[in-house]
Amino acid sequence: MYNTTVSNPSEPLSTSIVAQLFSDDTHQLNASYYSSHPYSASSLTYSTQSYQYDENNGYGIVDAAGAVAYSIGAQRFADVPNYDDYDWGLNAINVPEVWQQGYSGQDIVVAVIDSGVDYTHENLSNNIWYNYAEVYGDGIDNDSNGYIDDVMGWNFVDNTNNPYDNNGHGTHVAGIIAAENNNYGTVGVAYNAKIMPVKVFNAYGDGFNENIAKGVIYAVDNGANVINLSLGGAYTEVLANAIQYATERGSIVVMAAGNQGASEPIYPAALATNWGIAVGAVDSNNYMADFSNRAGSNSYLNYVVAPGVDIYSTVPDNNYKFENGTSMAAPYVSGVATLMLSANPYLTPEEIQAIITATAIS
Ligand code: CA
Ligand code: CA
Repeated sequence: MYNTTVSNPSEPLSTSIVAQLFSDDTHQLNASYYSSHPYSASSLTYSTQSYQYDENNGYGIVDAAGAVAYSIGAQRFADVPNYDDYDWGLNAINVPEVWQQGYSGQDIVVAVIDSGVDYTHENLSNNIWYNYAEVYGDGIDNDSNGYIDDVMGWNFVDNTNNPYDNNGHGTHVAGIIAAENNNYGTVGVAYNAKIMPVKVFNAYGDGFNENIAKGVIYAVDNGANVINLSLGGAYTEVLANAIQYATERGSIVVMAAGNQGASEPIYPAALATNWGIAVGAVDSNNYMADFSNRAGSNSYLNYVVAPGVDIYSTVPDNNYKFENGTSMAAPYVSGVATLMLSANPYLTPEEIQAIITATAIS
């Protein structure tokens, strides 16, 4: 079991910044992996994609229609009319094309490691993960996972079973990924997925790397397929180890590149040379946001960009709000990974990383 000893408390992290991970692939898709899947490599049509890496926007803007199609060995899904312009980000990464094919994140669990989630929100309450192995309120750890009465995630700040969001950041992130498709408010990229709320930041947006690492491990061990980290700070071994653990156990980790306007991502997004995906932010004209950390010179970094300016999503108490940040961009990519897994649940993190970078539009 992974060591989460907290003998050496680390510096607080701010949810206002995002980061990236290391990755170990060469951005070349290996067609042989399809042999173990119900899809034939011979049907793939993306092999001529140019894997052009740019120090500014990495492999380019994520393309849901291309990534999900590739995931099932299909040709890129045909264009469909735009969804309402309020949710410009959905159109910018071609999400309606994927919905048209019947993929909306069903049966996939996405952990939001953040300030918590308002699980009572009118646009989220039906999409919250539930731990059916746990009996609520009996004071017993029924599923023996080390957490008592954890029916819908965990609060690592207060060490309770209530991961409610008293900051607002995590609820906004959750809505981008999986707000319900109920004809009001907004709609998430993967609106039939389940959100696992894991609270690691307090009301002020501060948190400790040890708690973030514990949250990642909790998510992996309790069945999260996708892990969203809209956070960042200095490198710490404890968090790097947790992200490596997630990747090796089959959970894809998506990390915000950070909001310092720097030439490369901060941690943990900088780990995307080895594990997971780093995400920078663009506006509705597909220009890099001034605040977004760039990709940098290392083309082994799994770096793509996604909408992160004027993003409308859920905040606590049945409210909605526009926000800016790579914290908003990362959940778009988490949503795309979720759509890919709802189309092909056999994909490994390495395959998801390779497909998202290969199909991104430079
Ligand atoms: Ca439990
Ligand atoms: Ca219980």
